[in-house]
Amino acid sequence: MNTPAFETLAYDAARSLIEDAAWTLEPERVDLDRAIGRVLAETIVSDMDMPPFDKSAVDGYACLRDDLPGELDLLETIPAGHAPNLRLHSGACTKVMTGAPVPDGAECVVMVERSELRGNGRVYLSAAPEGRNIIPRAEDVAAGQKLLRAGARLAPAHLAVLATAGCVRPKVHALPKVGIISTGTEIVPPDQKPGPAQIRNSNGTQLRALCATMGIEAKCYGVAEDSEASLAQALRIALEECTVVLSTGGVSMGDYDLVPETLEQLGLRLRLRRVAIQPGKPIAFGTGNGRAAFGLSGNPNSSYLQFELFVRPFLMRLQGARHVPIEVLLPAAENFTRKHADRLLWLPVVINAQGHAERVRYHGSAHIHSYTVCQGLMQLPPGTTQIAKGDHLRVRLLS
Ligand code: AMP
Ligand code: MG
Repeated sequence: MNTPAFETLAYDAARSLIEDAAWTLEPERVDLDRAIGRVLAETIVSDMDMPPFDKSAVDGYACLRDDLPGELDLLETIPAGHAPNLRLHSGACTKVMTGAPVPDGAECVVMVERSELRGNGRVYLSAAPEGRNIIPRAEDVAAGQKLLRAGARLAPAHLAVLATAGCVRPKVHALPKVGIISTGTEIVPPDQKPGPAQIRNSNGTQLRALCATMGIEAKCYGVAEDSEASLAQALRIALEECTVVLSTGGVSMGDYDLVPETLEQLGLRLRLRRVAIQPGKPIAFGTGNGRAAFGLSGNPNSSYLQFELFVRPFLMRLQGARHVPIEVLLPAAENFTRKHADRLLWLPVVINAQGHAERVRYHGSAHIHSYTVCQGLMQLPPGTTQIAKGDHLRVRLLS
């Protein structure tokens, strides 16, 4: 039974269907040091002005503008972390280090490079600086201002903002538990020498690594054979223990492609069986009992692409965020023709020195090596059989 009743969905429709099927996982608090890549589940408001005082942007001398150029009395020296004691007045200057508060009355800071010590406590300052070299209090953020919104995926810069705001245990959405099953009677673990008609399992490792790019430590359930019993056993255990189960192989039209019907037998409702993309047309996506399962294609490029196009956005939505891929319009480096244009074709490319998208050697969905040398995937929309050199096409950058 290969559920031929399912229609082939366009990429956008399939992605919407999958994203709309997601729910949101509960939030939890984590240490700031462990929050990288997590999705914020609260709005962060600043408890103070940033910077909290008028501070010097350079090492130099704070003074009044009208005194420049000129020889001035040095009142005091202020290292970072210390507050000035004396107010500036005409004819005087205060030495300040980068990051130190400038004294009251300061109009500018002259860089130390434009100063000359003249003895008996006096300093000669040459021309006035072009800018003020003073970062005014609250220039970046005022107290009470929103710093980060719920739904933001925390990158290193976000963590710096959280640290600045004193938010050491941010509330983030839980990470989904993900299980990975490779299927195929021909598949042997990577540490074994394949016999005749066997191949090593590359999908398990690849999917686990793709999950790791999202901070998810997926659990691998090994390899299931192409029998209902073997598949059902592996899928049942994984579905008991995980929120999202990813399998590879066994989803196309072959006699032993039993993953979709096994998922149905385990109580999941299948929602998708085919998407008009190349590679990666056959797929199974089902949900039920607070679980989701993706039956991904067996070919390594296909399952990689399906992860990027469907699984990653779904895993982000479970965490209350949207995945926004980075895509650019680039001119094609050469002509390209294809016979069949019923699907959205994803071609591995590099961006060459001219800024053009240049195809790398690619033999199709089993050619995983092509993804080790490409920088992105160029998209040929359905209906397009030919592109000419210089035509602008969408390229999705792979991280
Ligand atoms: P299938 O969809 O099960 O027919 O698999 C399609 C192709 O992908 C076949 O050539 C399989 O041998 C290959 N394949 C399936 N699973 C894996 C895997 N885990 N690692 C590497 N190749 C695989
Ligand atoms: Mg198979």
